[in-house]
Amino acid sequence: KRVIEVQDLSYRYPDGTEALKGVSFSIDWGTKTVLLGPNGSGKSTLIMHLNGVFLPQKGKVFVDGQEVTKKTEQTVRRKVGIVFQDPDDQVFASTVWEDVAFGLFNLGMQEKEIKERVEEVLKLVGVWHLRNRIPYHLSYGEKKKVALAGVLVMEPEIVVLDEPGTYLDPQGKRELFWMLDELCKNRKTLLIATHDVDLAAEWADKVIILKEGRVLKEGGKDLLLEEE
Ligand code: ADP
Ligand code: ADP
Repeated sequence: KRVIEVQDLSYRYPDGTEALKGVSFSIDWGTKTVLLGPNGSGKSTLIMHLNGVFLPQKGKVFVDGQEVTKKTEQTVRRKVGIVFQDPDDQVFASTVWEDVAFGLFNLGMQEKEIKERVEEVLKLVGVWHLRNRIPYHLSYGEKKKVALAGVLVMEPEIVVLDEPGTYLDPQGKRELFWMLDELCKNRKTLLIATHDVDLAAEWADKVIILKEGRVLKEGGKDLLLEEE
């Protein structure tokens, strides 16, 4: 089953920069896809279209068969959780626990269920011991984990991570992969945007190579061998 379908998507910033020029691809349910491309190739701009932060100027985006439009952007946002590159954009409450619980309180969920879900996710991501800390003072790597927890707690079907490996040491990257594989076992669909070829080669089921706002290639990991 296709969970994401992007058709001929183009996007131009107000200053005239054409960030996406007719991008098309699809992502199947339960798979691990890497969107690979150098800085400036359009990865972030594309990601912003997957949960309705940006609406298509030209072309279409479907999530779970539903077209992303002004009308559906709220529903779509519940289905697609994005972990942004810079955790300072995402982590803001006065404790880690509150930060992760924030979205659930907003949904008006019962406190008992919130407690259970937050505990489960903090343990999964490996930041339970940080629950009473002030997010602002955490290390970059710790903040990234808290941001991921805040996304996972909402139980999106599709999890998108923008450059998750930035500043992680080899051990941090291994932990990240382990966790992402656990998520996949939990039937999530995962999309990682990165310029890190090694990360794509190690981890992906499928690779989409983006260059200057266009899809250069799309397919299995063997694509990466051809590149060299
Ligand atoms: P990536 O995530 O692959 O680094 P981006 O989607 O951030 O790529 O950027 C794609 C292109 O759009 C780049 O040329 C970038 O400079 C440009 N761009 C990004 N954000 C803006 C903006 N707010 N205004 C104008 N141009 C932008
Ligand atoms: P550790 O988790 O091992 O204490 P950090 O996650 O704090 O390490 O940082 C790892 C690397 O990322 C360091 O080289 C640090 O300089 C850099 N770094 C930490 N915080 C930021 C940030 N907010 N922006 C950019 N780089 C950062």
